Amino acid sequence: MSDKVSSQIDVATIDGDAVTDPWREFRLVERITLELSQSYKYSLGKYSRFFIELENRRFLATRCEACGKVYAPPRPLCPACLQPTAWTELSGEGAVETWSALHFSPASNADARALETPYVLVYVLLDGADTLFPHLLKTPPDQVRRGLRVRVVYSDEPVRHPIHLMYFVPIST
Ligand SMILES: [Zn+2]
Repeated sequence: MSDKVSSQIDVATIDGDAVTDPWREFRLVERITLELSQSYKYSLGKYSRFFIELENRRFLATRCEACGKVYAPPRPLCPACLQPTAWTELSGEGAVETWSALHFSPASNADARALETPYVLVYVLLDGADTLFPHLLKTPPDQVRRGLRVRVVYSDEPVRHPIHLMYFVPIST
């Protein structure tokens, strides 16, 4: 917790019987507003290399050497074979499988609040992958369709979470 604390004087009297109320001497209350913030460390664990390589403008997935399935987003363990996977690089190009246009941004964090509405979330089947990758597609909603070819763009802006080091844009034809 931080030491950032502010106080506002807010005094009220809570009603009570002036004669019989045993707490009559204590009905004047002051309310204060406190602000707490918290910083903590969160490990990205076995997924860390995916995020580290985004800063190097490389898009990594994982591949199961037993069954050959390629996971993007990466999975450290193949759920079918229960075998550890290996890192593999993809081009970062793929096709939209399904999508949503969102007209409200969640208030949950600053990255989300910064989104201009409407914005588009897509599931992309990346070339060489077997699973769908969900993320932001920066394009007007009326330009999105299933099968739209897209590519990863890497951001140079400061971000609050490394997943925002990337987003998708349509590949102009
Ligand atoms: Zn497998």
